[in-house]
Amino acid sequence: MSGSVNVSAGRSYLAIPGPSVVPDQVLQAMHRASPNIYAGELIEMTATLIPDLRRVARTQHHAAIYIANGHGAWEAALQNTLQPGDLVLVPASGRFAIGWSEMADGLGIETEVLDFGNHAPWDLDRIAERLAADKEHRIKAVLGVHVDTSSSIRNDVAALRRLLDASGHPALLMADCIASLGCDRFEMDDWGVDVMVSACQKGLMVPAGISFVFFNGKAAAAREALPRISRYWDWKPRANPQEFYQYFGGTAPTHHLYGLRAALDMIHAEGIENVWARHAHLARAIWAACEAWGSDGPLRMNVPYRALRSNAVTALQLEAPGGTRLRQWLEQNLGLTLGIGLGMAPSDSPEWHGFFRLGHMGHVNGHMVLGLLGGVETGLRALDIPHGRGALEAAAAALAGR
Ligand SMILES: *Cc1c(COP(=O)(O)O)cnc(C)c1O
Repeated sequence: MSGSVNVSAGRSYLAIPGPSVVPDQVLQAMHRASPNIYAGELIEMTATLIPDLRRVARTQHHAAIYIANGHGAWEAALQNTLQPGDLVLVPASGRFAIGWSEMADGLGIETEVLDFGNHAPWDLDRIAERLAADKEHRIKAVLGVHVDTSSSIRNDVAALRRLLDASGHPALLMADCIASLGCDRFEMDDWGVDVMVSACQKGLMVPAGISFVFFNGKAAAAREALPRISRYWDWKPRANPQEFYQYFGGTAPTHHLYGLRAALDMIHAEGIENVWARHAHLARAIWAACEAWGSDGPLRMNVPYRALRSNAVTALQLEAPGGTRLRQWLEQNLGLTLGIGLGMAPSDSPEWHGFFRLGHMGHVNGHMVLGLLGGVETGLRALDIPHGRGALEAAAAALAGR
């Protein structure tokens, strides 16, 4: 490129679909001396987290905090509701649904995956057929990923509930909202979700390390019916403030709790509805730019229909190795890091290098999205990757509401 001046010094920007950008307020809340874990401020502060987490999840039911990433929450949800030999149905539209089913498989749970590929949401008719065929109710739970972060498809969780109800099937409905919580609208109680898992490092804006399982009375009853349960993953003591806030099943994740307190304060100050609206508005600007780039040249959005796209993450494809070249160029030259493609091609295949993703979850605003899009535009030009014109204008127009 003619302007071979490196302009990467300055504040770096990690625009990957998790971990997300951590706000200064959260970092500052975590920057403190170790607190007393047996009495005092930490115990009192932890008690305030549960009601506020419930508000974000839109549930009146139970919440358990684990010292784990999202994979830990996956395991916790399974350990509290199922036993080896039980059957679960996993409708999949991406790598994360497959990952949850593999976690179940490792616990001796029988899994049946309905794989709808990487470009399509759940086919509700096919799920309905499968449930109707299960006359003996062998299927104990349906594991659904709300937003699959690999494909950026958003599934209709409420419709899955209606389908279970219409077929009179008693299976638990379990939702993975690790990517979507605090980004895409999610209503645990209104949508009839029995178990929901999430983690702190995406829409909740805290460094990875704690995760959550929300569960209702039906799921609590499933836990009671199990003959034995892992002491560590058992959600019963964790959802009981008296037992748990003091002992946390071990040492409390002290600094993460302070960080989460600050993040929940930010979310509630903005208002969860406004948080969703912000993500939706920013996503429209991103889509407008991506659609313009793709109008002339190899760039493809993974999800063709807007209504099926998540507001938290956008999966894209260039001719291989364009995705990898673009990511590397942006990181080295602009201080901007994009996400790798995940699950769209084997990671040791040449095609893998075509895929990449934009993370736009959590602490993201208009100027950051414009910087992200301006960066991608610059990288496409610098690398002579053909692309349609007018992407940044389209994004500005979308942000301006014009
Ligand atoms: C990130 C993510 C996970 C995995 O979470 P980890 O914290 O990386 O274990 C699972 N499901 C979805 C939808 C995710 O986005």
